[in-house]
Amino acid sequence: MSSVFDNSVHSGFQVAAASVNSTSPTFQQTYAAVSGLAGLSWIEKLWASYYTWIGNDLFATGLLFFTLHEVMYFGRCLPWFIIDRIPYFNRWKIQDTKMPSNREQWECLKSVLTSHFLVEAFPIWFFHPLCQKIGISHDVPFPSLATMAWQIAMFFVLEDAWHYWTHRAMHYGSLYKMIHKQHHRYAAPFGLTAEYAHPVEVMVLGFGTVGIPIVFVLLTRNLHLFTVCVWIVGRLWQAVDAHSGYEFPWSLHHFLPFWAGAEHHDEHHHHFIGNYASSFRFWDYVLQTEAGVPAKQSRESKMRGAAEGKAKKNI
Ligand SMILES: [Zn+2]
Ligand SMILES: [Zn+2]
Repeated sequence: MSSVFDNSVHSGFQVAAASVNSTSPTFQQTYAAVSGLAGLSWIEKLWASYYTWIGNDLFATGLLFFTLHEVMYFGRCLPWFIIDRIPYFNRWKIQDTKMPSNREQWECLKSVLTSHFLVEAFPIWFFHPLCQKIGISHDVPFPSLATMAWQIAMFFVLEDAWHYWTHRAMHYGSLYKMIHKQHHRYAAPFGLTAEYAHPVEVMVLGFGTVGIPIVFVLLTRNLHLFTVCVWIVGRLWQAVDAHSGYEFPWSLHHFLPFWAGAEHHDEHHHHFIGNYASSFRFWDYVLQTEAGVPAKQSRESKMRGAAEGKAKKNI
């Protein structure tokens, strides 16, 4: 049988889990047996029960990731779908004259579902053998909250850098025409459009989300599958929110000025140029690729000032 119990911590309970498994117990019976373990939180007990009850780690991880992706993506899109239908919220819509029609949303939904089932589902089922090979642990107990927090924060920063450069590259000539044009079909995005993209783009940008943790664990041998789950949910929610099309007075970037949010990415869809980063604003700020009329005017006045200064020096 499979075991998710870290031998050094819960070796005594491995026997209990094995005896529960041998009589084909229900999930409740498995959870009751695992609940006897000392020092585990409710989520760790749920995690251990899930893997013990299924008894096949490859299937358990595949099912977990596929379900997590579908539930968290569409679950996060649903509030935006409802808000689009309530006129009261229109005052906070960034491009307020461009409400997505039912037909647009339906077309987008069909395309995203096709991509989920035909492009993304396949590698998900091979994730567990990869985890075992490279050392992503799925044991209980989980790492400390502090460890999970710094690893997830680092993934956000690294993914943002990957996204900035690959996204910017996809705006060049034939790369744009062949790959990225599909994502720009909607000049005024809505939540569902976050993953509306060409399969090559899904894979290239997906490397920032999945490939970076893989490279990290190859270098450090220090990563837990639960941390990867939390990171993927965070990244999915960031992407859906960035495409929501709404800018509220309570939007996160008002409190964290370096956070990108919907206002940043909406400008990218509106103007097609600039604001290439995903989660943060610093790449576009430092490299002067901010989108929109005010950013363009400020860039031009800085360049004029620099040119005038240079001309004065030369006199
Ligand atoms: Zn773009
Ligand atoms: Zn977009």
